[in-house]
Amino acid sequence: MAEQRRDTRDERDAGEDSQGSPEVRGRGVPDDDVARAWDELVATARRTVADGLVVGTSGNVSVRVGDTVLVTPTGVPYDRLTPADATGVDLSGRQVLGTLRPTSELPMHLAIHRTTDARAVVHTHAVHATAVSTLVSELPLIHYMSAALGGPVRVAPYATYGTPELAENMLRALTERTGCLLQNHGTITYGSTLSEAYDRTAQLEWMSHVWLKASAIPGHTPTLLTPTQLEEAAHRLQSYGQRR
Ligand code: 13P
Ligand code: ZN
Repeated sequence: MAEQRRDTRDERDAGEDSQGSPEVRGRGVPDDDVARAWDELVATARRTVADGLVVGTSGNVSVRVGDTVLVTPTGVPYDRLTPADATGVDLSGRQVLGTLRPTSELPMHLAIHRTTDARAVVHTHAVHATAVSTLVSELPLIHYMSAALGGPVRVAPYATYGTPELAENMLRALTERTGCLLQNHGTITYGSTLSEAYDRTAQLEWMSHVWLKASAIPGHTPTLLTPTQLEEAAHRLQSYGQRR
């Protein structure tokens, strides 16, 4: 996909306060916070490529700072992104920061930011998860880490990438979940931080891989967890890790 630019100077000027304050277009967010969030967003996007969850410019990432949603620009290789490329929209999708065109999946990202307490969203084309999305309407309960995404992970019915219809299908599949598969397309997860959203994608891809491996053994069918077993794991996961 070619890099494309859009002149948003008028929109940018319209948002600046008269003193030219050091905030994103007078939206009450200090520039330092935006710069830090952008760096973290770019690092997360690069990680999706480095970890093999995405090829080329597939996938996209967003992080919310105040009422501004920073997003990866469409069709730009992540290793080329610099601090000057910071791209942001408001919750209605109006561009408030930068000149690169935002990701084509803005409808999915904004649907999550508008309707949940998400601060970060990660979308990938991870290979095992995408393969599973072509086979079932829900990832079978192969592992207790499903609990980290709120329960059995659903597959949102197919719709063309970048469309409001895809965002609608995704929102339905995300009911009481922090991630879902997108049929014949990939994954989407969210969290309260970029690393939480990223980890949920990595767990979803790993569980998809396990299920594909186990269900490919001729003459055997994988055992699955019961809803009660999942609930017990979910309960335990609440106190997993180091106490602060
Ligand atoms: P963008 O480059 O527009 O973010 O699109 C990639 C993608 O994964 C579309 O589904
Ligand atoms: Zn995609």
